[in-house]
Amino acid sequence: MNNASQIKRIVVKVGTSTLTYETGKVNLRRMEKLARVLSDLANSGVEIALVSSGAIGIGAGKLGLKERPADTPGRQAAATVGQCELMFMYDKLFGEYGQITGQLLITRSDFENEERHGNLCNAFNKLFEYGALPIINENDCVGVEEIVFGDNDSLSAHVAKIINADLLIILSDIDGLFTSNPREDENAKFIPVVEEITDEILEFAGTTGSSRGTGGMVTKLHAAQIASKAGIDTIVMNGKNPEDIYRVLDGRQAGTLIKSKKVQ
Ligand code: GLU
Repeated sequence: MNNASQIKRIVVKVGTSTLTYETGKVNLRRMEKLARVLSDLANSGVEIALVSSGAIGIGAGKLGLKERPADTPGRQAAATVGQCELMFMYDKLFGEYGQITGQLLITRSDFENEERHGNLCNAFNKLFEYGALPIINENDCVGVEEIVFGDNDSLSAHVAKIINADLLIILSDIDGLFTSNPREDENAKFIPVVEEITDEILEFAGTTGSSRGTGGMVTKLHAAQIASKAGIDTIVMNGKNPEDIYRVLDGRQAGTLIKSKKVQ
C-alpha cells in the first residue's frame, strides 16, 4: 500500500447493509459517525469521494414497502424517493461539521462516452478544488439492466480510476475476506492481505457472503481487480465502526488489503 502519509485522495464506498437497519430505516448512529470521520479527514487535507448505496433500500422503507421491489420500475421509483432522503441526511450530517457535499448520479455509459467521461472528470476536479465532498450513486432511475453497473462496488472502482485515487476503501458488513463464510463455518480464516487476486482467492470470495448488500464479496473483489489494474490498492473492511478508517490512514491493519499491480 502507499505509505499512509502519501494517501491524499481516497474513495470510500458504503453499502445499504451498513447504512440501514433490517427495518429499512437509516442507521443514524453509523451515518453520523461516517460523516464525522470523513469530514475530519477532509479537514486534515485528504480528498474524499463517497460512493453511497442505500437509495432503493431507504426508498422502499420510506414508501412502507415490505421489501425491495422485485421489478425494475419499482426499484426506479424507490430509488428516486430514497436518493432524496439519503442526500438530505448526508447534507445535514456533513453540514454539521462544515463539510459541503455535492451529488453525482452516474450510469455506466457516462464512463464509456468520451465526452461525458471528460465532463465527469472536470466536475470531480472542480468539486475537490472547491473543497466539496462528492457523493456518488448510480442513477438508478434511468439505470435499467442493460446500462447499469448494477452494484456500487464496481462503480466505486471506476470512480477511483477517474479521480486517480490513492486508495479505495469498501465498507462492508463483514470484516474482510475469509477462506470461507465465517457466518457458517467456524474454521473460516481471515485473510489480511491479498497480494494477487488468484482463482483461489475468487473461490474464497464465492463463499464469503455479506448479509444484506447487493454485492457480496465477489463484486468487491471484482472492484478490486478494476482498481488494481489502475495501480490502486483496495481495502475491504467492516463499516460498523467508521472510525476504523483512521486506522487505515494511520498505516495500521484494518480489513483485507488487496494490493494493486503497480503501474510502472
Ligand atoms: N444504487 C443502489 C442503491 O442506491 C445500490 C446498488 C448496490 O447496492 O450496490 O440502492
